[in-house]
Amino acid sequence: MRATCSGVPAMAAEARIGPNAITQVRAALESLAGANALRGVFGSAGLERYLDVPPERMVAESEVIRLHAAVREALSEPQAREIAYRAGLATGDYLLRHRIPRLAQTLLSWLPRRLAGSLLIAAIERHAWTFTGSGTLRVTRGPSPALIIGNCAVCRGAHAPGPLCGYYAATFERLFCRLVDPRATVVEAQCAAVNGGDCRFEVRWDENRRAYRRRPVLVPVAGTRGGRHGGA
Ligand SMILES: [Zn+2]
Repeated sequence: MRATCSGVPAMAAEARIGPNAITQVRAALESLAGANALRGVFGSAGLERYLDVPPERMVAESEVIRLHAAVREALSEPQAREIAYRAGLATGDYLLRHRIPRLAQTLLSWLPRRLAGSLLIAAIERHAWTFTGSGTLRVTRGPSPALIIGNCAVCRGAHAPGPLCGYYAATFERLFCRLVDPRATVVEAQCAAVNGGDCRFEVRWDENRRAYRRRPVLVPVAGTRGGRHGGA
């Protein structure tokens, strides 16, 4: 709350977060746990209205906090973890489909890993307001970059023996895998729910994962003069 010029207290507007943190959890929940669990979780989070009309715009941060907490409350730990992971991957896919221009994706895929990673991190920083709400994002660059969320909405107020923010880890992992290197994995190495403080997501490169060409391969088309552009 803050004071206005007239001396009348005014409520500060609540921070907001992109709707994927709700809609993708809904999709993963329904597919993994079924319609009854979906209704139960959204009911206990006070978000029944989103079952009829999914949000298309930024939602109140408190709604995201309540929904992610309700999933963990209602389901077993492995189920909740899987739902968070799938919702995060789907969020990454959504961003790749709708928010990151195709040309930028192609250019990133042609760059060396370290440079592509640095550019992707810069883009994530610029858009942090869409997913951190009242939280903060700090990053570290270099061969093993990290994204550090302070006051993380997904695990806010929770206490757990292990990290809870697979939703963010999976979103970041999808983006790094598709745009930087398919061997990328993102691990939540430190979670506020476990030790307090920040949630730290480390990008690691699984060199043992089967490497395949990240760059598009241009193959001349046989039997045409001037390659594929020379054909009819
Ligand atoms: Zn966390």
